[in-house]
Amino acid sequence: MEEFIARTLAALRSRHIGGLFAADIPTANRKILELIPPDALVGFGDSTAARQLGVLADLEARGTKVLNAFVPKDAGIDGEEFRQWRERIVREATLCDCFLTGTNALTEDGRLVNVDARGNRVAGMFWGHPLAIVVVGKNKIVPTLEEAFARIRNVIAPTHFRIRSGELGGRKRKTPCVATGVCGDCRSPERGCNITTIIEGRPAGTDLHVIVVDQDLGLGWDPSWPGERIARIRAQYKKLVWLPV
Ligand code: SF4
Repeated sequence: MEEFIARTLAALRSRHIGGLFAADIPTANRKILELIPPDALVGFGDSTAARQLGVLADLEARGTKVLNAFVPKDAGIDGEEFRQWRERIVREATLCDCFLTGTNALTEDGRLVNVDARGNRVAGMFWGHPLAIVVVGKNKIVPTLEEAFARIRNVIAPTHFRIRSGELGGRKRKTPCVATGVCGDCRSPERGCNITTIIEGRPAGTDLHVIVVDQDLGLGWDPSWPGERIARIRAQYKKLVWLPV
């Protein structure tokens, strides 16, 4: 295990958060399935990293029910009915046995840093569930809190909106990031960066586990990394990011 991952896991544990290492995707999925009781009701907070693991299918295959509102519009329901169905599932997923999601950044001193539009994804990490599991690719680990904010502001948020709305044709947003790929700290009513959270310790009432996978997952990189690695992270993200309608 690389030293920065070991340091991060130790820091999580010092904060009474379960820090688990997975050398590969099958190991990560096995650990998630071990943590979640088979008869638990699992709320999914949307996470491209979790989709890349394929763990939702593994959970459903063994009979564990997953409340997943982040499915393609053509999943059998259309239009207004689809929106109402999605709202209901998002609400139900905020209060159930377990919450499964990803994070924007994880600092080497064990802090989970996130920005969200509505707040449902971040709130589920610390409220409403006796068990919460966050899956993290090693590319999401950053040295400091300042670098977590910089990573989210300069890389993750603008790239996310640019890919979803500008490149993949998801719901349109008239925000600077969609037009240019750069954050303008906008005041748009369509701003997606409305809520910032930092989890600094085990949330009271939630058994929080963080599974660090020894590979790149989800969206996030340091601009100094080799271009091929960045291009690979971006391309993999584009394949599985959820497109709102
Ligand atoms: S603050 Fe506005 S411009 Fe910046 S990434 Fe968020 S939505 Fe885009």
